[in-house]
Amino acid sequence: TDIFLPVRENSKGWDLKAAEHLREIDDARSPFRHTSFEAGPLIAGETRPDAASERRNPSDPSDMVGTTRFASKADVDTALEAARPWAASPQERAQILKRAAKLFEENFGEIFAVLCREAGKTLPDALAELREAVDFLNYYAEEATRLTSEPLGRFVCISPWNFPLAIFTGQIAAGLAAGNAVLAKPAEQTPVIAHLGTRLLHEAGVPKDALQLLPGAGEVGAALTSDPRIDGVAFTGSTDTARKIKKAMAENCHPGAPLIAETGGLNAMIVDSSALPEQAIRDIIQSAFQSAGQRCSACRCVYVQEDIAKSFIAMLKGAMDAFRPADPWAIHSDSGPLIDAEAHGQISDYIAKAKAEGRLLHQIEAPDLGYFLAPALIKVDSISDMEREVFGPVLHFATFKAKDIDKVVDAINGRGYGLTFGLHTRIDDRVQQVTERIHAGNLYVNRNQIGAIVASQPFGGEGLSGTGPKAGGPFYVQRFQKPVTPKYRP
Ligand code: GLU
Repeated sequence: TDIFLPVRENSKGWDLKAAEHLREIDDARSPFRHTSFEAGPLIAGETRPDAASERRNPSDPSDMVGTTRFASKADVDTALEAARPWAASPQERAQILKRAAKLFEENFGEIFAVLCREAGKTLPDALAELREAVDFLNYYAEEATRLTSEPLGRFVCISPWNFPLAIFTGQIAAGLAAGNAVLAKPAEQTPVIAHLGTRLLHEAGVPKDALQLLPGAGEVGAALTSDPRIDGVAFTGSTDTARKIKKAMAENCHPGAPLIAETGGLNAMIVDSSALPEQAIRDIIQSAFQSAGQRCSACRCVYVQEDIAKSFIAMLKGAMDAFRPADPWAIHSDSGPLIDAEAHGQISDYIAKAKAEGRLLHQIEAPDLGYFLAPALIKVDSISDMEREVFGPVLHFATFKAKDIDKVVDAINGRGYGLTFGLHTRIDDRVQQVTERIHAGNLYVNRNQIGAIVASQPFGGEGLSGTGPKAGGPFYVQRFQKPVTPKYRP
């Protein structure tokens, strides 16, 4: 069945083409250029945090963004005991979440500064991220007033560093809109923005025992997800971690506690010989290299029809040369760094191996700063040859013969993921043929394959890519409540 989503207004944001808006942004973010933030747990009880840990700017590790204190085992226990489902009426909850959305927008300068310094976000990425967070708050607030069941109870939200405000806020907003007590565990790499977001939610009126923040590494998440007192988990991160969470929940939690997981992808794009090459190339560059490829939606493998491959590859290399990774604070930066030294080490090794095997087709320069890594293009015969999802600016390139297009789609499906998929063609029948066969949560035709918009492009995959329901879609918030059971009558 097709579902038509009602038109609604999303957040307006700023126009980065308008000098006046750029000045406004610069004035608002500059005071936070060198601030060092304190970002420990926010618990509705006494805290006994573990040792402090430093957060440094991945573009420039001499820039100290802040210190965090990881939640201890005792903190997890205190927070679980203190947690109280949000007793306010759905209308009141909606009002407070909308107030939080306003506060997020008002504090844009501080938010942009922290997103840039802690997570390496360029200004366009930071802007899109703030807007997405605001949209999640407003949309789920509206959803709250349409709910028909009751909250589940204590909901654990575990969010990733690549959308440290948008996904962090989206999970929490859904949990709260449904009336739960939320225990939020942000990624260990991005506690400062999580702290700021949580403070704004509290300031808007979310009770401190309905939303608690437990920063930390995997141990904090593991302690939460293996506790019999929890009633559900929302998780965005790797497929491996989702498996571990599912296992821990199966062993410890009551059988009715859901896991809502958004995980990895091995996303492909197919470009046939009827495509407009310059449009396809612009969309590939964005899909593969924007945000340094650190999106689960990013294009990892492009298949180009053999007949146009030679000239296409020349154009692609040229476009890569024009792409400019640079300090993300600078307005001209097309992409920031990788998130940390570990990611930098792993992906550099991966590229070095491809180079040694004679498969590195092209690599551009990146600044010799922090954890910057130069975007790379690697030859493969098929997506089946890719070792794994490489979470960085690495695009794989394959070719295909027109008659084999179904086989290509089968090879993509064969990897077992199903998150995003891109197609560039000007043949309508081909759109039909390919989109009917592909397994993917989000299909994009003749455009880039990243940046799903809340409420108009619900986001999420199938298979190894996640459980659904899709974030930013009409079925998401209700999963944070008890399933509605029909009354059976004789
Ligand atoms: N929603 C994001 C997008 O459409 C991706 C989310 C993620 O990387 O987890 O690009």
